[in-house]
Amino acid sequence: MDNKTTTKTSTGRRAGRSQRKSSHAPANWSLEDFQVPAVEDKLRFHDFHLPDVVMHAIADLGFEYASPIQAATIPAALAGKDIIGKAQTGTGKTAAFLLGIITDLIDYPLPERNRLGEPRALIVAPTRELALQIASDAVDLSKYTDLHIVSLVGGMDYDKQRQQLKQQPVDILVVTPGRLIDFINRKDVDLWNVEVLVLDEADRMLSMGFIPDVRTIIRNTPRKGSDRQTLLYSATFTDDILNLAAQWTFEAVKIEIESERKTTDNVAQQVYLVSSSEKYNLLRNYMDKDHAEKVIVFCNRRDQARKLAERLTRDGIKAALMSGEIPQQKRVRTLEDFRSGRIQVLVATDVAGRGIHIEGVTHVINYQLPEDADDYVHRIGRTGRAGATGTSICFACEDDSFLIPEIEAETGVKLDCIHPDPALLKPIQQVADKSAPEPVPADTSSEQVSEVSEQNDSEQRPA
Ligand code: AMP
Repeated sequence: MDNKTTTKTSTGRRAGRSQRKSSHAPANWSLEDFQVPAVEDKLRFHDFHLPDVVMHAIADLGFEYASPIQAATIPAALAGKDIIGKAQTGTGKTAAFLLGIITDLIDYPLPERNRLGEPRALIVAPTRELALQIASDAVDLSKYTDLHIVSLVGGMDYDKQRQQLKQQPVDILVVTPGRLIDFINRKDVDLWNVEVLVLDEADRMLSMGFIPDVRTIIRNTPRKGSDRQTLLYSATFTDDILNLAAQWTFEAVKIEIESERKTTDNVAQQVYLVSSSEKYNLLRNYMDKDHAEKVIVFCNRRDQARKLAERLTRDGIKAALMSGEIPQQKRVRTLEDFRSGRIQVLVATDVAGRGIHIEGVTHVINYQLPEDADDYVHRIGRTGRAGATGTSICFACEDDSFLIPEIEAETGVKLDCIHPDPALLKPIQQVADKSAPEPVPADTSSEQVSEVSEQNDSEQRPA
């Protein structure tokens, strides 16, 4: 079948694939350089027979054994099956779908290069941060291939993104829904030859009101089944999600990595019962006592987050704000500063915080309890990632402690509620010279915060 069909029928580039290509030996590296002992009950990446160029990248990343979601989904994905995967954050699900896609694109090269703006694989994610993180993981995993990866997310320069599509054909396109639709409408992207479609964090797309956009996107791709492989991931399998999955996938393999608890076992969870006026002192004293190095503090509203970030900064703490009111480019810089340790405390709201995928977060602090118990699961998924341990603390006060039973019901974990030791509530010594705090990280000055209008926040949940 001609993969360059121009008519707008489902061309089924996927259905017209030729023989799987089998040899991809990079010049100066061999699998011999990547020894991982076989262990009972664990799959090594070697067991999937991935191309050497992919194994080389995996070796560079220091991955050795497949995580459970990877062990369960990679073989099915490589067999061309549609997948509905239930996976929490931090389980390695991004690499799970990326490894399948990258291998597939290498194994089935096109007879001719695809045209500009016509991706072979499309990954749709609910937030910009998540999309950028996926794109960055894709670049890491395909660094020894010539695959071209482009991300199209809102809040960043349209023309720059367009330029990337014009430079060379795109293989893997990672997007947020709204921005992709702009590109489709302006005919800068054509999805008619997409071979693999990933819908990541489908539950979040649902709760953020993106489903109509996702439907439009899917209508622009080839038919499900032989023409399009569809992988749908969600942290929860509600009836709504399963209905959407049934519409969008074909004879999908349903993979649910059973974990008794929704929250990771690597994360210690504790609730401090305090009054709202005691929370700030508790936060500061707790961080000192526990030597908290990389902390995400969650607030429910962006004004609460902004005020807290400003107060911490004024008091000499290296803190920054991560909420919808921070422009995208600043967010990327802030995340980099947090990753590198220049920022100790990131004060985040749920929508923005969801995109934070950073190793080594030692503490998640729920400065206010989330109103939606699902958000609690996502919040604490920011720590204890990839087998590391982490701590999640809730500050429950007169306004929000009634939410505890709901969180317990959602997570299946009985939370340990205690009154903090008085030493943890002692007044904080003010910094002597308030005009000279620690260097203020890029995103936290009140000027910068207030100059950004609410309308800039395309991540806001629709009303
Ligand atoms: P994710 O759930 O996709 O956000 O992945 C969480 C983190 O785990 C990422 O930083 C990955 O780089 C890392 N990771 C993914 N797979 C593995 C693996 N098999 N071994 C070790 N780390 C991994």
